[in-house]
Amino acid sequence: MNPEVPKANRVLVIDDSESIHKLVAARLKAEGLEVKGEVDGERGVERAVAESPDLILLDVGLGDVDGFEVCKKLKEEPETRNIPVIFLTGATGTEDKVRGLDLGAVDYVTKPFDQIELRARVRAALRTKRLQDMLEQQSFLDGLTGLWNRKYLDRRIESELTVARRYNRPLSLVMCDIDRFKILNDTYGHLFGDIVLQGVSETLRGSARRSDIVTRYGGEEFAILLTDTALGAGAFVAQRLRSSVDARHFDANAEHVSVSVSLGIACTHDLGAEISTENLIEAADRALYASKDAGRNCVHMNKAGDISLVDPDIGPDIFQEKRR
Ligand code: GH3
Ligand code: MG
Ligand code: MG
Repeated sequence: MNPEVPKANRVLVIDDSESIHKLVAARLKAEGLEVKGEVDGERGVERAVAESPDLILLDVGLGDVDGFEVCKKLKEEPETRNIPVIFLTGATGTEDKVRGLDLGAVDYVTKPFDQIELRARVRAALRTKRLQDMLEQQSFLDGLTGLWNRKYLDRRIESELTVARRYNRPLSLVMCDIDRFKILNDTYGHLFGDIVLQGVSETLRGSARRSDIVTRYGGEEFAILLTDTALGAGAFVAQRLRSSVDARHFDANAEHVSVSVSLGIACTHDLGAEISTENLIEAADRALYASKDAGRNCVHMNKAGDISLVDPDIGPDIFQEKRR
């Protein structure tokens, strides 16, 4: 999932009647919606999983299975659970409508349907979905800094690990902690501390590459996930993050206050095959502790458990490092 990219409104119609597909597609395309169709339930579920549409219009009386079964499946799968379902029901009986709603459908439309009503119900369902997506995205953002939060990082590492394994690409993680932040808070006040947190966040985001995922891991600690990046190239990025923060000053009552960060980096390619989210975080954390122990404002890397200081003058030529 990538919440940065707003999705176009895509509707999946699962109905065994070709004429319904034609009718619905014609009406909904006029609303600016992208409409796709499947004529059997099983294929419909597969397509919903693969394409995660914004809305599903589901026939109750499908050929192979009944629509209620399909709805149950959609509500069971984590990938499709949050996609709103509107039932297309031929029956005017209350029982079918109630059953559909109880299974988690948001609405129903009775066939033969009124075009204006169909469109209005589709618009309403999509409005709710957009709101729901927005709320979900909000729950992944840190309120103070606007960076992604730890919940997002955990999810993102999981999915990036899968990609990295599949294509045998390296995935690096940088853990970064502000040095002696407690003293700063105690000396200049908590509000000033908040301003520093915002400033450091801005600097990290500005110095990272577009593809790097910068998150506030908690308190004054940050985690930066570097996709398709080997240890050496990641160490170069980490040094750049360190020196950018080091170069910044914050004004407190006409006083220039400087801030530094300590960092640690680990890469999946140097940690063995069975690497998990926890292993990767722990390995980067151990390198971060080494930076704290070494006097702060520096970077350490964890290479298969071997922790060493990264040269502050590390060159970008390390990017040429060969993929294993
Ligand atoms: P070290 O160099 O070893 O990391 O020392 P430190 O003082 O940075 O670390 P320590 O863990 O002792 O203190 C972290 C401080 O960060 C304590 C906590 O009050 C402060 N902090 C955590 N979250 C926030 C926040 O949202 N705003 C402010 N202002 N301070 C915060
Ligand atoms: Mg700290
Ligand atoms: Mg800390």
